[in-house]
Amino acid sequence: MREIIEPFRIKVVEPIRFTSREERERILREAHYNPFLIRAEDILIDLLTDSGTSAMSAEQWGAMMVGDESYAGSRSFFRFEEKVQEITGLKHIIPVHQGRAAERLLFSLIGGPGKHIPNNNHFDTTRANIEYSGACADDLVIEEAKDLDSPVPFKGNMDPGRLSEYIRQRRPENVPAVMLTVTNNAGGGQPVSMANIREVSEIAHEHGIPFILDACRFAENAYFIKLREPGYADKTPKEIAREMFSYCDGSTMSAKKDAFGNIGGFLALNEDALAERARTLLILTEGFVTYGGLAGRDLEALAIGFDEVLDERYLEYRLACSRYMANKVTEGGVKVVQPPGGHAVYIDAKRFYPQIAPLEFPAQRLVCDLYLAGGVRGVEIGSVMFATRDSETGRETPAQNELVRLALPRRVYTQSHVNYVAEVILEVFERRDEATGLRITYEAEMLRHFTAHFEPAR
Ligand SMILES: *Cc1c(COP(=O)(O)O)cnc(C)c1O
Repeated sequence: MREIIEPFRIKVVEPIRFTSREERERILREAHYNPFLIRAEDILIDLLTDSGTSAMSAEQWGAMMVGDESYAGSRSFFRFEEKVQEITGLKHIIPVHQGRAAERLLFSLIGGPGKHIPNNNHFDTTRANIEYSGACADDLVIEEAKDLDSPVPFKGNMDPGRLSEYIRQRRPENVPAVMLTVTNNAGGGQPVSMANIREVSEIAHEHGIPFILDACRFAENAYFIKLREPGYADKTPKEIAREMFSYCDGSTMSAKKDAFGNIGGFLALNEDALAERARTLLILTEGFVTYGGLAGRDLEALAIGFDEVLDERYLEYRLACSRYMANKVTEGGVKVVQPPGGHAVYIDAKRFYPQIAPLEFPAQRLVCDLYLAGGVRGVEIGSVMFATRDSETGRETPAQNELVRLALPRRVYTQSHVNYVAEVILEVFERRDEATGLRITYEAEMLRHFTAHFEPAR
């Protein structure tokens, strides 16, 4: 097979800024060893997130000029609505400024105390919006997902047996929705199979419960199905996506992911009464029903993004990027979550820095070291983010895993950038024995990873 190449050429470029090791040492110290607090212009290659960081195409930029900024009935909304309906087949398309706004609308209507909402793995804003409503958010991903090395092809699947048991125990009337996140972001960007989507949908429907897809990376998931699930090799990504959506009654989506948007999203629903109530809430805080907090030009660019993301050449290249990066570092002895997910590579920091105790934050140390060595920014997904604290003793329990996520923005970096990142990782790996842990000197009450301050523990 020939080399899989970037399926685009570059028309506009943005310079990236090089810094010296000495500068980065100062910058990191001033940022209290928390790369969230580093200015973006002091980063050389930014793999903090794939959200809102995509490069838009010439066609998307061109469409922005013809965006219709009418308050009500904007032409751009109807283009957006038509495109989303074409892919999802869902009836009511409610535009929102980003995924979490769709979540807030949905869960303030169907959540509340005494309710329980299962998912393969809830993304953090999904969980936060469910819990804020007073409901419980539970993760029912398959057991194999906990083994970082297991090569299961659809490691994002929900365990159907656990779902049935869950609904039985909590009673169907207390489960206002069953969700599935495709791909499973909190679970390493792992795909969900069509068979699993179908089965979970059937279980929900047997109990009269609506089934909702968190569709942020629906196109990447569709392409994984094409590659890995028997019977789909000859279908187009769009046909596969349409089948995925055909099993659901509604969907939340951050168009900052698989629509190449810098901002945007939607809540899509089939049920008329629920959609009506969601639109009322939308007007209250987001905006009128034909813009929902977005500019007409954003809707215009997203309508095109939804088409571009389903292009087979693009998806082939997209999945090759994370696979390529994962293979490069694995060959050098670094352990990453297997198989590599769609949008990111997750390094196992526990095995990278076994000498650093979990509560001295090996993954945070690694994030810092990647910045120091090469100006690369990733994000800690470990005990800084997910340790739990006993409210009485104040004692912390570490998170299950200590991971560093290197997320790949869409269409932004080239293969040589990825080669460079792999070199930096392997350089840090060679000197792994020297690394020591960190301690927290300041933390906020909630979501501490965004603003915490650290210092070297010794
Ligand atoms: C990003 C994301 C969200 C939330 O979307 P925002 O646009 O960041 O508000 C929800 N679910 C998943 C799976 C995501 O990746």
